[in-house]
Amino acid sequence: MSARRVLLAEPRGFCAGVESAIKSLAWMAVLHRPPVFCVHAVVHNEHVVERFERLGVRFVSHPDEAPLAAPVLLSAHGSAPEVVTAAKRRASVVVDAVCPLVTKVHHEIRTRAAAGGAVLYVGHPGHDEAVGALRQAPGLAVRVESADEVATVVVPDGEPVAVLAQTTLAVDTWQGVVAAARDRFGDVWLPPRADLCFATTNRQSAVRRLAARCDAIVVVGSPTSSNTRALADTARAAGCPRVVRVSGPEELPDADLGVVGVTAGASTPDRVVAGVVDALGPAAVDVVRAVHEDEYFPLARPVRQRLGRLDAAGELPPVLQDAFVHDRTTTADDLLTRIEDGRLVGALDPRPARSPAVRT
Ligand code: SF4
Repeated sequence: MSARRVLLAEPRGFCAGVESAIKSLAWMAVLHRPPVFCVHAVVHNEHVVERFERLGVRFVSHPDEAPLAAPVLLSAHGSAPEVVTAAKRRASVVVDAVCPLVTKVHHEIRTRAAAGGAVLYVGHPGHDEAVGALRQAPGLAVRVESADEVATVVVPDGEPVAVLAQTTLAVDTWQGVVAAARDRFGDVWLPPRADLCFATTNRQSAVRRLAARCDAIVVVGSPTSSNTRALADTARAAGCPRVVRVSGPEELPDADLGVVGVTAGASTPDRVVAGVVDALGPAAVDVVRAVHEDEYFPLARPVRQRLGRLDAAGELPPVLQDAFVHDRTTTADDLLTRIEDGRLVGALDPRPARSPAVRT
């Protein structure tokens, strides 16, 4: 695919929750000798996962797959309580990198279920976030994915119904389910502050702005990324005649499409988006901004505390001390690049380095 002109959505790509989770795992790779273990993809993007694998991080689907006493990070999507317990039982260090906005939904599910009502959770089957959320109230929270499913879902008779959601849905999907739930159950309980997070709604607002101005829209992101899929759905619903989702430039179709809008899911690195724009080869690139996004989530607390102690003791190398002190303005990509360039994996592990095996 080539483009006469590219309109680049703003905001796009990494959100505050993804930045925080990636940086927390990057610091884990410095604080511990490899392998560090991560339960599930830290975020749903194969480029991010491959980059961490090159730093010696191993990805597993359950803490029991990591050796005893290994350092373990739990992904940004949030984990079932029994997964957190298993990690704490087994690991030397557990860092839960769950996004605080996912934690908010977990709290709502537990609270509504404890209050005795039915919980209707809108989410994708098998998605890590939905799996972790439903396990907050096993047997009490039931999942639907679409407005059509509301007609047949089984909930206890006469119970008040709360409708909660995966944070990364398409706004249209969410509104459709809420309307269907009101039709069927009457007065449903909704969270005072929406479950769809700011990153999801901001990126969808930006892609809606692109839709009327573009011949085609390219959404950059993994097929496993819920918010990437929601961006493509939103672009189609907004009337864009051609919408293509690609993981990277190599997946661009071979066609000339005039004015092309480009956006990216919240787990897509900006360097992959830049590669897509380069491959499109436009004569001009213009940014179309829907909203200014400057949310910041700090590093996961155990990582922050450990680094704080090392900083106070003067034990951080300058290049890392600068990244820690200026964490708010240090991007995940920048931190990973510093670690890679300085060969700093395991650099802060206090255990003596193992001697290389000597063969005679
Ligand atoms: Fe958090 Fe939303 Fe980003 Fe998910 S998409 S990590 S919920 S801010």
